[in-house]
Amino acid sequence: MPQPGFLKKRNLCLLNEGEWESLCDNCGFCCLYRVLYDDTEEVYLTRVMCSCYDLKAGKCSVYEKRFEVNPDCTRITAENIAGLTWLPPHCAYRLAYENQSLPENRPLFSRKRRRSGQRELERVLGGRVVLYEDGLDLCDYIVWKC
Ligand code: SF4
Ligand code: SF4
Repeated sequence: MPQPGFLKKRNLCLLNEGEWESLCDNCGFCCLYRVLYDDTEEVYLTRVMCSCYDLKAGKCSVYEKRFEVNPDCTRITAENIAGLTWLPPHCAYRLAYENQSLPENRPLFSRKRRRSGQRELERVLGGRVVLYEDGLDLCDYIVWKC
């Protein structure tokens, strides 16, 4: 099993699919809607969650077919990570891209998939997350600038 810090010695492009997937702790921050202001190109995170996210389970409910169900779902890859500047600072893909160490509680380092990601969502947004529904104005739910 990999140890924390192993990514510093490996190129993200060389991770196999299982290793890549296990970096994610299902924190759900990338499933929150963002607002992009065209005039300033500023991106703001909202507390509105994709309706495919299961808040109780703390993960996407359609993960295997997410790109079919939700064409707006973003695929995070080693090739596009540089442009995904809105990913939260604790996201493992962002940390790995920035060549920073990953916390030891990542699923990659433990057979027991921990729920640290879900706890982070609760800690930061304190249960204020709402699921997206038609008619909702995202601008009313902005929490911070990415
Ligand atoms: S923000 Fe990063 S760690 Fe969190 S769910 Fe998205 S990809 Fe996974
Ligand atoms: S489809 Fe799933 S992975 Fe994609 S944004 Fe929605 S909840 Fe997240």
